[in-house]
Amino acid sequence: MKAIASVMLTILVLACGGEEPPAALPPLAPGAAWFDDWYAVTKLDERSFAIAEPRYDQHNVNYLIAGDTRAVLFDTGPGVRDIRPVVASLTDRPVTAAFSHLHFDHVGGQANFASVASLDHPSIRSRVASDDRFTPTLLQHGATGRPTFRITEWWTPDADVDLGGRVLRVLSVPGHTAESLALYDAESGRLFSGDYLYPGDLFAFVPGSDLAAYRETARRLLAFSASRPDLAIYGAHVPASSVWPRQDRRALERLAAALDQLLADRNRELPWTLAWFEWIPTRRHAFGDGLVILTPIF
Ligand SMILES: [Zn+2]
Repeated sequence: MKAIASVMLTILVLACGGEEPPAALPPLAPGAAWFDDWYAVTKLDERSFAIAEPRYDQHNVNYLIAGDTRAVLFDTGPGVRDIRPVVASLTDRPVTAAFSHLHFDHVGGQANFASVASLDHPSIRSRVASDDRFTPTLLQHGATGRPTFRITEWWTPDADVDLGGRVLRVLSVPGHTAESLALYDAESGRLFSGDYLYPGDLFAFVPGSDLAAYRETARRLLAFSASRPDLAIYGAHVPASSVWPRQDRRALERLAAALDQLLADRNRELPWTLAWFEWIPTRRHAFGDGLVILTPIF
């Protein structure tokens, strides 16, 4: 059945565009300001910024995290507009682009960066060509126009990345996809969670999605952050341009509990409603407090 969902997703995203919509500027979350007519920036602290794409239909949020010697751009968005000018306006440190996972709405701008870091994951390592260039598979990427870029740095799970006076912990967070990466900034207690967790419908129906892995990751993140009740989780999407992406540790607790329910539901008797992503049907499970998990229809 997973194969069916995979084929459906592949066909679906061929329609996902990179065209800029002509719409007027939508409302922003409090604290955000337009950089131009595409990107909006929110300052998290002096050296950390959320770079949102409020006019993109998936409402992506990318993050720039800078230290004394280098900066990391976590996700480069769908690549509809070059993200380098906004990044350059926020830091003068050399920037390494990293990606939370390989979907089209997160790696669109990777090829614009000479320095690219990747989670050291077999599904990525195995596809690096002899010239060090990497192209995701259609199922990993999910759309036409797949990018090719050179990976210059491999981040081992649980390793620390030193930005100079600031350290990011590399976390492997499978669930949404196998190769998903999250970054944890111990100094601020921020977890940059990619598509693993954000305030909107969570996709557990795409190729590579795995509910058991999703739950295992939730449990691991809860244990990892046990001493941080003030954990602030910043996801890679918001459901609307006016919504702020930050969630607290309780969102992780609710996610773990919901995944417990889904995995215990062997006869698939939990209530659900039909939801469509483009033209892919999914089971939409709502668990309250805004937590929704989409699972395969089959
Ligand atoms: Zn995404």
